[in-house]
Amino acid sequence: MNIKEYFSSLFEGTHSLIKGMEVTGKELFTKKITEQYPENRADLKIPERFRATLQFIYDDEGYHKCIACKTCERNCPNGTIQIITRMVDLPNGKKKMKLDKYMYDLGSCTFCGLCVSTCPTDAIEFSNDFEQAVFRREALLKQLNYLPEKEKPTPVPKPAPAPKPEASVKVDEPKDVQPNVEQKETE
Ligand code: SF4
Ligand code: SF4
Repeated sequence: MNIKEYFSSLFEGTHSLIKGMEVTGKELFTKKITEQYPENRADLKIPERFRATLQFIYDDEGYHKCIACKTCERNCPNGTIQIITRMVDLPNGKKKMKLDKYMYDLGSCTFCGLCVSTCPTDAIEFSNDFEQAVFRREALLKQLNYLPEKEKPTPVPKPAPAPKPEASVKVDEPKDVQPNVEQKETE
C-alpha cells in the first residue's frame, strides 16, 4: 500500500464512521417509542386479545363450564394440554366422568388458539396477563382448575301433580218419550 492508498482508505473509513454516527446521533433526539417497562406498569395498555396464557373461566359462584370432553386436548397440535378425569357416582345411580385436573404447559404453547375456538362450552380463554416469567421451567406447568371443585346442588324433584277430581258421570237427559197407544186409550 502506497501513501496515497493509505490516506484514501483512512478517509473512507472516517467518512463511513461519521455516516454511522450521524444515524445514531439522530436517534438521540427523536421521540422515544420504546415502552419504559416496568416503570410504566401502572398505565401499561395490553391489547385485550393478546394471548399470554390459557385460563379457566369461573363464574361468580366459583363454577367452571368444563365437561372434561377432551376436545381441546385432542385439537392441541403439540400436546400442551393434559386432562385428567375421574368417575363419580350420581344420585340416580349412574356414573359420570368429571374433570379432576386440567394441566397446561405454558412452555410449549404456541398460542394458536385451537383449544379455545373448539371448546363446546366456552370453558377456557386466553388471558392478556403477559407477566409470566418464572425461574424454573417446571413452574410453567399449570393446573387451570385451581378452585376446589364445587358440586352443583342436586335438582329438587318436582312434587307429584295433585290427582284430578273424578269426572262427574253425565247422565243423558231422557228424551221426550211418546206415550204408547195402549196407554193413551186407557186414559
Ligand atoms: S375445556 Fe372445553 S374442550 Fe376442553 S375438556 Fe373442557 S369442555 Fe372440553
Ligand atoms: S393455544 Fe394451541 S398450542 Fe396452546 S394449548 Fe391451545 S391448542 Fe395447544
